[in-house]
Amino acid sequence: MNIGIAGTGYVGLVTGVCLAEVGHHVTCLDVSQEKIDMLKGGHSPIFEPGLDDMLQKNIREERLHFTTDRSEAYENKELIFIAVGTPEGENGKADLSYVKTAAREIAASITNDVVIVTKSTVPVGTNEMVEDTVKAHGSAYQVHAVSNPEFLREGNAIHDAFHGDRIVIGGNHQPAVEKVAELYAPFDIPIVRTDTKSAELIKYASNAFLATKISFINEIANICEITGANVEAVAQGMGLDKRIGTQFLKAGIGFGGSCFPKDTKALTSMSAEAGYEFRMLNAVLEVNELQHNKLMEKANEYSAIEKGTKAAVLGLAFKPNTDDTRDTPAIRIIEELQRQGADIVAYDPIATDKMKEVFPDLTYTNSLEEAVNGAETAFIITDWAQIKEQTPAFFTKHMKRPLIFDGRNCFDPGEMVSGGVHYHSIGRSGNS
Ligand code: NAD
Repeated sequence: MNIGIAGTGYVGLVTGVCLAEVGHHVTCLDVSQEKIDMLKGGHSPIFEPGLDDMLQKNIREERLHFTTDRSEAYENKELIFIAVGTPEGENGKADLSYVKTAAREIAASITNDVVIVTKSTVPVGTNEMVEDTVKAHGSAYQVHAVSNPEFLREGNAIHDAFHGDRIVIGGNHQPAVEKVAELYAPFDIPIVRTDTKSAELIKYASNAFLATKISFINEIANICEITGANVEAVAQGMGLDKRIGTQFLKAGIGFGGSCFPKDTKALTSMSAEAGYEFRMLNAVLEVNELQHNKLMEKANEYSAIEKGTKAAVLGLAFKPNTDDTRDTPAIRIIEELQRQGADIVAYDPIATDKMKEVFPDLTYTNSLEEAVNGAETAFIITDWAQIKEQTPAFFTKHMKRPLIFDGRNCFDPGEMVSGGVHYHSIGRSGNS
């Protein structure tokens, strides 16, 4: 099929590359000339394992094109995807301005009947709004909007595109729904067909549920710390019950990233607008806020930071295998360390450039050894393999004072303590 895609971020680009890989002809549009120039040259502006190779292959085989020209992206297309951002707006509401602009631009450029597929995470009623916007802008063509929310996990996005658990397609015009289903036939992933509003809500409900699991286990971790239980043992014992499951029961310093915080807030705000108070989600967000402070609370109890203390911040991305630093817990920790006058070195194997947009004047390194060298305290924010593979000896050798506050439970507390490290983690006994 001939496909246009608005937005070449994490979602739009991965969607475009994977649809081209299964044989569709895809033109990706972005408003950022810089991104499009990079992409035309076969380089992805985001880090995603496997993406560059697949990108280059499909450009070479002429199924994948990049442009800033709306006519090229939207003329003569059977399907047009909207994959623009829906960031947090006022009072936690999803900011739909990019989606509205894309809809207006599509209306002005299409040259035939088309199905608009909304991949962006959008509140209930948005697909209806997209259809109305196109109609209001006087398009002479028939347009049907179909909700097709994205479930990729950054860092596993290519794998997820081909082996996802489900594809959700929601629409009120059956032929349009079937057209989208046909597009995905080569992926061999179960398809959930539903009405538009339910599809829109499936995405928010899924993310909010996962966020709830995280806040739940973090509260259990806090009880473990008070009572002397071990959150990992508790999580394993709970998770082996198939009704509960082992995933998303890893205690830590709370969720971040470009989706869980904003989507949980958007669902809370959408519910409030509909006249319903989503009490549980308010608590999930509150717990997450408190959890972000956990490492600094522990450091303060220990009086770990004084003016000029050399502090290493290990990991900046909100999770491993991505360069995404949006809403990462590292931001809060760095702000607090700066406030307390610490001398910070920030380490991440790939996300330092993205973090420079937030803290341009920080000292960065992509060498773990350089980060901990001479440090008096280290804060582990991201469970990168490069960090987890270290032994206590690495820290005792390079740090001036081997004092570690681990927000991701990367190490066995017993091994760290017997290896001479003063080690504090989340929800586990045996810390020194
Ligand atoms: P992103 O910010 O990385 O990318 C959005 C892109 O859209 C940017 O490159 C921007 O320049 C471009 N854009 C903005 N207006 C445009 C326009 N009028 N025409 C063409 N391009 C335009 O965002 P993302 O992380 O890819 O997320 C996109 C949507 O998908 C959001 O709604 C998000 O919630 C959802 N989502 C994201 C993920 C994820 O892991 N990142 C997963 C599932 C769903």
